Amino acid sequence: MQRLVVLGGGESGVGTAILGKKQGYDVFVSDFGRIKDNYREVLKKYEIKWEDETHTESLILYADVVMKSPGIPEKAPIVKKLLEKGIPVISEIEFAIQFTNAKTIGITGSNGKTTTTMLTYHLLKEGGLNVGLGGNIGKSFAWQVAEENYDCYVLELSSFQLDGNINYRPDIAIITNISPDHLDRYDYKYENYIASKFRITMNQTENDYLIYDADDEAITEWFKKNKTNAQLIPFSLTKTFENGAFIKNDTMDIIINNEEFEMKTGEVSLEGKHNMKNAMAATSVAQLMKIRKETIRESLSNFQGVEHRLEKVLKIQNVQYINDSKATNVNATFFALDSMTVPTVWIVGGVDKGNDYAELMSLVREKVKAIICLGVDNKKIIDAFGNVVDMMVEVDNMRDAVITAKHLAEKGDAVLLSPACASFDLFQNYEDRGNQFKAAVKNL
Ligand code: ADP
Repeated sequence: MQRLVVLGGGESGVGTAILGKKQGYDVFVSDFGRIKDNYREVLKKYEIKWEDETHTESLILYADVVMKSPGIPEKAPIVKKLLEKGIPVISEIEFAIQFTNAKTIGITGSNGKTTTTMLTYHLLKEGGLNVGLGGNIGKSFAWQVAEENYDCYVLELSSFQLDGNINYRPDIAIITNISPDHLDRYDYKYENYIASKFRITMNQTENDYLIYDADDEAITEWFKKNKTNAQLIPFSLTKTFENGAFIKNDTMDIIINNEEFEMKTGEVSLEGKHNMKNAMAATSVAQLMKIRKETIRESLSNFQGVEHRLEKVLKIQNVQYINDSKATNVNATFFALDSMTVPTVWIVGGVDKGNDYAELMSLVREKVKAIICLGVDNKKIIDAFGNVVDMMVEVDNMRDAVITAKHLAEKGDAVLLSPACASFDLFQNYEDRGNQFKAAVKNL
């Protein structure tokens, strides 16, 4: 019997353990932290052996294969030891893919993964396909492979998941864009992070497709020095293609293998230029999967968007409140500000991951009438924008942020929470931050 050791007892770990058990492996789950109660229950129910708050080496180091959850860095001592012994350490996707014949659509990028994944899933599901949704979202892929029977899957893949990729080959891959993020996990080398994203295409063949942002510098630079076997489908806001997705005269135009799809951009429910890119990527998949054009059109116009991403909360006294709490880096906030069409009171701040605010300068000049700094340390933001914006206020909790915003906003303005920073100084996570924002707005 082959021994499968699963490092990490969260969603992907537990899913992998269930699948491993079903496939006849001797499975052991080990988590250096505490495994959550609901996952303990599941492990018990499936009679899977596990430990937490420790790694017992004698139970781990004789594994035939190890699945490492994406949250555990390669530098963790237990991972180092496994690698030194030559034991394969792989990702959940890599493990699970061996046990399904389903087609997969793998979606990665620095921003827009979740939105594009959800939209692609929506288009395929509305198109009548028997499709599952997984990766970073919802129920783990491995768990679904064990217990569901989908013909295809739309998978959101972070760079951490792709690091453990050895043989996985998506039938269709999307790279939404690349900008510096998580560099602490990549020896502070941007090129390592870029290489990790491109692992999504490394096993693709001429029968597969790679859909990518042709406006993105990191991506276009990569193509100058590297190759993929996949058929390429670029998308762009500024260029046009004979085979690809582009915007012409306020119309989204997608031509793939001589099949053309057109739709007025104003009829797409998602707003903002970045979302038009996400829509082009998702629609390219739908076209490749032969979804009817009428169904694609309808689904693009009724898609509700994803919580905490440019989410319209309420309009109060003709001021629109928008929750973009998921904007945890400058690039995401860039697109949020870019999509604002009225004077904006901007709530920004948190834990800065080495932000360069210069990129936002001209948008802030043009669109922002007041800044509310919501962080423990706001110095960088004050230094960057102090001379650019007339009103700047510091607060240390969401309630005060929203009440201050209400005072500063006038009829016709918008209040935008788009922090450009992580949330851990004042909140549990970005969901907590977004939920507190929404609750405070509803209390106004
Ligand atoms: P991810 O899953 O990659 O973090 P999300 O879809 O959750 O991406 O969006 C994260 C943030 O980035 C949100 O603030 C959203 O408005 C913004 N965003 C979404 N799509 C894009 C894009 N294509 N380019 C830049 N920013 C984007």
